[in-house]
Amino acid sequence: MVQRLAASGITAAPVLQAMGTVERHRFVDTALVNQAYEDTSLPIGLGQTISKPSVVARMTELLLGAECARAAGLGRVLEIGTGCGYQAAVLARLAREVYTIERLRALHEKARDYLRPLRLANVHLILGDGMLGYAAGAPYAGIISAAGGESLPQQWCDQLAMGGRLVAPLAGGGGRQVLLVVDKTPQGLKQSVLEAVHFVPLKSGIA
Ligand code: SAH
Repeated sequence: MVQRLAASGITAAPVLQAMGTVERHRFVDTALVNQAYEDTSLPIGLGQTISKPSVVARMTELLLGAECARAAGLGRVLEIGTGCGYQAAVLARLAREVYTIERLRALHEKARDYLRPLRLANVHLILGDGMLGYAAGAPYAGIISAAGGESLPQQWCDQLAMGGRLVAPLAGGGGRQVLLVVDKTPQGLKQSVLEAVHFVPLKSGIA
């Protein structure tokens, strides 16, 4: 899987190393274990999916490109959409603290079970509505969303540190989604629209 990621253009050694360390098969049901290292999203229950490894790697690499991370390493990170906890485990190898928020209780608990044996002391699992961000951990050097909405919640931008970076899917018109990068600079927010992506929808409230 890591060789394929490198061949597909992921160049950041720390990202490749983190993805080589976290065993993806630990985050899927037994029946799907033999597909765990293929570049596909897989069902994790409640209509949600574990993201494709190439997308996890791409978004993580973008996050590491934040101005404040380039100087001092990645500090606190907020992930919206814990799902099964895979992306959080990858981030835990690269950031000082990882706050990850999930709105579906059953998945929040599943992630807790999957992550427990890994003993990642810097991962904080929160049950809540990530559309509001998570003010208690702010400001964040990086914010990453695994679910795509119609617009960017204002709280995400507010909770971003100066020099911090947000990476999130966003509705791009015509039912399409694009990957968006927002950098917080002294001159204001700088937005870049990248490639088309396919993420589950961002929804409000806890269920
Ligand atoms: N990060 C996961 C991917 C999970 S899929 C991985 O490593 O593979 C996206 C998740 O976002 C789903 O579990 C969905 O329930 C969750 N989600 C959607 N809207 C949300 C919101 N407002 N707050 C928190 N989680 C949300």
